[in-house]
Amino acid sequence: MPSETNFAPVKTGLRISTCMTIAAPLVDSFGRAHTNLRISVTDRCNIRCFYCMPNENVRFKPRHELLSFEEIERFARVVVPMGVTKLRITGGEPLVRHEIHKLITRLAAIPGVQDLAMTTNGILLTDQAAALRQAGLNRLNISLDAMHEETFAKIARREGLQRVLDGIFAAQQCGFDRIRLNAVAIRGLTEDEILPLAEFARKHRLELRFIEFMPLDAEGRWDDGQVLTGEDIRRRIEAEFGPLVTADRADPSQPALDYQYADGAGRVGFINPVSQPFCGDCNRLRITAEGQVRNCLFSTVEWDARQVIRSGGEDDQLADLVRACVEAKKPGHGIDSPEFLRPRRAMYQIGG
Ligand code: SAM
Ligand code: SF4
Repeated sequence: MPSETNFAPVKTGLRISTCMTIAAPLVDSFGRAHTNLRISVTDRCNIRCFYCMPNENVRFKPRHELLSFEEIERFARVVVPMGVTKLRITGGEPLVRHEIHKLITRLAAIPGVQDLAMTTNGILLTDQAAALRQAGLNRLNISLDAMHEETFAKIARREGLQRVLDGIFAAQQCGFDRIRLNAVAIRGLTEDEILPLAEFARKHRLELRFIEFMPLDAEGRWDDGQVLTGEDIRRRIEAEFGPLVTADRADPSQPALDYQYADGAGRVGFINPVSQPFCGDCNRLRITAEGQVRNCLFSTVEWDARQVIRSGGEDDQLADLVRACVEAKKPGHGIDSPEFLRPRRAMYQIGG
């Protein structure tokens, strides 16, 4: 069970020279530079994946507790000069946040943002892909764990596979050309989805990434026996499609191990946070929908940016808060350690 609530007190009143504070890069005590910010815009969702959310009676945050688009933009404008170049919008399901494309427009206009991406379940994409593209979103990750409606419904506890597939095609038609599919793999449930997913991705020129199931489900049912490892999946794919060739790692901090199909039909990757943790190269920082800054998915401590913003704090106070968060980052998540404690939040309350 999640165990803690010892959130760090907000630092207020600490005033260092604005330029010094804001300009220095976000390097933690292990030398990892933080260039990547995940911004959650809601804890709401239109489906109920069992590895992320409770099925019923979800207590969502009231609207006034969520950061407004203005507040999110302000936070981004503080961290981008500190070396953050990549922003990813996530949730909950980001497309259920009203007029999310208007946030994209604001973030795309910030000088220094080199990559503006979103992770979505794709269900509402058909209607929104064009507006997102026009607003300046350059990359989309779409979650798709199964090609069979029955398995999809067992995971999502709602229907919707066809809408996701329609959303993928709509996004391609709108000019999103680097769409990635994210598939969470669950032992005992999704083995028969591996090859159909790979076939679909190869056929439609989509990059597929399998993600190991992490202990971030809301119902606390995770156990390591449900983890279908990336290595296991890779062997199954090679048995069907032939040898996979290691792809170049353009960005050493990327979590995925990427491969190319020897026949030239694209790439497939594996994100193995449980069996092969990549914490040593982590460059990610997160802000939850209600403005809590986190240095790790598994962090048990948060820094309250919303309090600084809503109490009239200056940009340098926000910068100090982010720096304190980064400096406190641990070397790794420690899932395999006997001392591991799950965070109090589940995935939908953090932003994956
Ligand atoms: N709703 C959007 C979606 O599903 O793409 C964005 C938010 S979701 C939390 C972000 C990603 O986290 C998705 O790809 C989802 O499959 C993944 N995810 C959620 N819970 C997970 C878990 N316990 N282990 C591994 N991945 C998880
Ligand atoms: Fe919703 Fe995404 Fe969580 Fe699934 S993984 S319940 S789509 S937020």
